[in-house]
Amino acid sequence: MPSFDVEVEFEIYCAKCGAGLCSNGSTKSKNSYKSSNRLDMEPCEKCLDLAADMADGEARDELGNKIQELEDEITELKARLEV
Ligand SMILES: [Zn+2]
Repeated sequence: MPSFDVEVEFEIYCAKCGAGLCSNGSTKSKNSYKSSNRLDMEPCEKCLDLAADMADGEARDELGNKIQELEDEITELKARLEV
């Protein structure tokens, strides 16, 4: 079957934060072994960092809640001992 090789230039942006991701991707052209063109993308580093920060924050909140619970328990036990 006759075919054309066409060069397509395009830019890639993170859908979440809008950062340019052109340097995070690499392409592999269709060849006799592969049936279609392929684009491999690295995750957006900004969003990865943000996700890590959020996870840290959540972990800290969880620990903070645990500490508060324990302090409440200690206060309650102290009150009971003083009665
Ligand atoms: Zn992003």
